[in-house]
Amino acid sequence: MFDHHQPNFADRHIGPDADAVAVMLKTIGVGSLDELAEKALPAGILDALSPDCVAPGLDQLPPAASEHDALTELRALADTNTVAVSMIGQGYFDTLTPPVLLRNIMENPAWYTAYTPYQPEISQGRLEALLNFQTMVTDLTGLEVANASMLDEGTAAAEAMTLMQRAVKGNRSARLAVDADIYPQTAAVLATRAEPLGIEIVTADLTAGLPDGDFFGVITQLPGAGGAVVDWSDLVAQAHERGALVAVGADLLAMTLLTPPGEIGADVAFGSTQRFGVPMGFGGPHAGYLAVHAKHARQLPGRLVGVSLDADGAPAYRLALQTREQHIRRDKATSNICTAQVLLAVMAAMYASYHGADGLTGIAERVHGCARAIAAGLTAAGVQVVHRAFFDTVLARVPGRAATVRDAARERGINVWLVDDDHVSVSCDEATTAAHVEAVLAAFSAAPVDSDFDGPRISTRTSEFLTHPAFTRYRTETEMMRYLRSLADKDVALDRSMIPLGSCTMKLNAAAEMEPITWPEFGRQHPFAPSSDTPGLRKLIADLQTWLTGITGYDAVSLQPNAGSQGEYAGLLAIQAYHAERGEPGRDVCLIPSSAHGTNAASAALAGMRVVVVGCRENGDVDLDDLRAKVSEHAERLSALMITYPSTHGVYEHDIADICAAVHDVGGQVYVDGANLNALVGLARPGRFGGDVSHLNLHKTFCIPHGGGGPGVGPVAVRAHLAKYLPGHPLAGELSDERTVSAAPYGSASILPITWAYIRMMGAGGLRAASLTAIASANYIARRLDEYYPVLYTGENGMVAHECILDLRTITKQTGVTVDDVAKRLADYGFHAPTMSFPVAGTLMVEPTESESIAEVDAFCEAMIAIRAEIDKVGDGTWPAEDNPLRNAPHTAECLLVDDWNHPYTREQAAYPLGKNYRPKVWPPVRRIDGAYGDRNLVCSCPPVEAFA
Ligand SMILES: *Cc1c(COP(=O)(O)O)cnc(C)c1O
Repeated sequence: MFDHHQPNFADRHIGPDADAVAVMLKTIGVGSLDELAEKALPAGILDALSPDCVAPGLDQLPPAASEHDALTELRALADTNTVAVSMIGQGYFDTLTPPVLLRNIMENPAWYTAYTPYQPEISQGRLEALLNFQTMVTDLTGLEVANASMLDEGTAAAEAMTLMQRAVKGNRSARLAVDADIYPQTAAVLATRAEPLGIEIVTADLTAGLPDGDFFGVITQLPGAGGAVVDWSDLVAQAHERGALVAVGADLLAMTLLTPPGEIGADVAFGSTQRFGVPMGFGGPHAGYLAVHAKHARQLPGRLVGVSLDADGAPAYRLALQTREQHIRRDKATSNICTAQVLLAVMAAMYASYHGADGLTGIAERVHGCARAIAAGLTAAGVQVVHRAFFDTVLARVPGRAATVRDAARERGINVWLVDDDHVSVSCDEATTAAHVEAVLAAFSAAPVDSDFDGPRISTRTSEFLTHPAFTRYRTETEMMRYLRSLADKDVALDRSMIPLGSCTMKLNAAAEMEPITWPEFGRQHPFAPSSDTPGLRKLIADLQTWLTGITGYDAVSLQPNAGSQGEYAGLLAIQAYHAERGEPGRDVCLIPSSAHGTNAASAALAGMRVVVVGCRENGDVDLDDLRAKVSEHAERLSALMITYPSTHGVYEHDIADICAAVHDVGGQVYVDGANLNALVGLARPGRFGGDVSHLNLHKTFCIPHGGGGPGVGPVAVRAHLAKYLPGHPLAGELSDERTVSAAPYGSASILPITWAYIRMMGAGGLRAASLTAIASANYIARRLDEYYPVLYTGENGMVAHECILDLRTITKQTGVTVDDVAKRLADYGFHAPTMSFPVAGTLMVEPTESESIAEVDAFCEAMIAIRAEIDKVGDGTWPAEDNPLRNAPHTAECLLVDDWNHPYTREQAAYPLGKNYRPKVWPPVRRIDGAYGDRNLVCSCPPVEAFA
């Protein structure tokens, strides 16, 4: 009786209460949520509840816990982990996150709940931060164009490999030379990616020069995995003479002291920005980077922020060259990367802004100094230091004693890296102290000495970097705090408006879910730390694997893929390995419906498959006749069907079981894209209705925030016969060492507590209620808006799933008003637009999620209805087609504050179309942006300050 009051978390997470749900159901015309489910989902796949009202599979979940209790459990898990001093290095370094960045970015929903900046007019803050990131990377690497982040260093290397093969001129070699001293996880990801593309990797000691034969590219690392600092300029010259390009994996902190890749003629640089203030996080998330010469800009994968102009000629930022992306190029896309690591890129960029060039150089010098002190102590004690030129990592030769030294360091609370029986490497970082140096030396039976190490000091860099005001103005906490606030204020994230983006599931990211990710017991863990340091994390991972198999009906789950696209790729590799092992390596055809997300086709192409497109019927369903025809045409060579369920058209196809059976009948496998799982949890399980593999997007259905375009986690779930082909990792003994798709064994492990907390707090009943409410809300919107904007597709009983497509094509034909106009006009009303023109051009796809209250959903509907009335005024000639509030949207305060207002509508109509009490006004900071101008005049780093005069 003295228990504190513990509110039900599901009631906090789910927006509509029972009364609101009743209103929605009445509008939809059904009596209950269960009746809605029966009408919307095919009877054959809808799971019946057990007698005690639990959905099958969800009985594996513990009963719902309150926020307080879930956090107590997570605290207990965290407490079983050991936060040792990490001197492991190998691409992951301890770092000191400036508290001003932790509090104002990482813990601030204005930053972490934003979506990918597809609506640039209300995303200027994060676009500016990403432009700073790109400028930071290009300055430090000495190259000209960098993208707005990669998923991690390993995948960045893999993208560098394929980029070089595309960009190299007059060279058809399929061979890549790779230096032997790159990180083992980078080598593993390269090997995985190379194989299906027919790329042959030749690994050699490139300090001895390029091996004989032809190569399209060369990959080296600076410093090497063993710490060596090598002048690669001769190798670059040699490679260029042979017509090959060169990519260097460069440590950005070291680049403050070393001649950067761009200045020795390298064509590409790649790496990680983790040590710029982003905790190691047991492997992630952190932002990888990729930079190239300007001439290769159009070959860059991923998102690229560029400068353009708005309708008033003011500089404005937006995503550049989007025609490179998978939605446009599909199976011709050269990369499947979609969600990247925006929030972490913002952290790294602001870390560079806060420290500035001299601050970063100072940190680098201190790190180098610590390493020198270790080298000097070792030398004095007679221990051989293998490389005389190093930055932060000292490779010590201790014949036969390596394990002893490692254990002795461990006794002192320090983890070092066991290279082999005879070598140990010790890496220093920003957090290394004199006490750490002394303790690690003691593990070698050595001690600090007064004299300096006699190897060369690292200081070959002569060029300036980070001179732009973005890196000089915000060096005090007051200035940085205000800068971050001013940027966040330009953006519409979930803290301001529902983000009804179809296919993206922008639901609540609860504070209780977010809290544990910054705990050092989870965050300050090296991914290759001894497993005895991380029992809590491993238990959390095992729990999640169990819960997700229950929810999906599959038998095994890998959490390694760090985005949905990577889960797709891992799933397809599993299918290919399965066919190959059964003696059918020739199966290479992947059937993909025309409505599929662009990543599907791109992933299939990267997995070495041939994409065959299946058409859709007029009602949006997969064309079964076309499917049957293509299944039989390709029967012998059919590898897989990739199908999204419920479909990207927002409906539950009633033929799904037949579709799966047709593929299985000829020996094919079924890949169910699970990005829309928010319409299935607790209702139906893809692993039971015909799927062999699915990926889930934890950053959609399971509450990991989108962070402005990442991070994400894209687990891949499989049935038992595919379990042994799940992603492996060379440095995780419990996994195989094949099919490594991420640099870290468990991918972006440090954000898994978010999903763990969500499932733990919702319980089986809460999760099912969430799905049902999301479906109810989408159907409610469909009913409310159908007479204004016809709903394009519905299922058999006139129901949609968890999202609905509003068809504007006829309206556009009749009035000239486009989906773009409506999307931009919504910003004037204070709303983020729905998904534009995906999966059908000229439409808007609305997904409310269960987290939005009926008040917010109604306000959105009112905005859409009012916009329809505005469209009609254009249609009937009241407003000219080229001058009306839609075409001119969004309106900035500045554009309204003019003496001679000469538009056919009032300023009030422009800014407060539904009156001043409708909702808090959000002023877009720029007017509509001219994307084409920016693509013609490509500028992808911070423009000079005068541009804003
Ligand atoms: C979001 C999405 C993906 C891609 O996921 P990422 O995490 O962005 O790589 C794939 N398929 C569908 C249907 C999606 O909605």
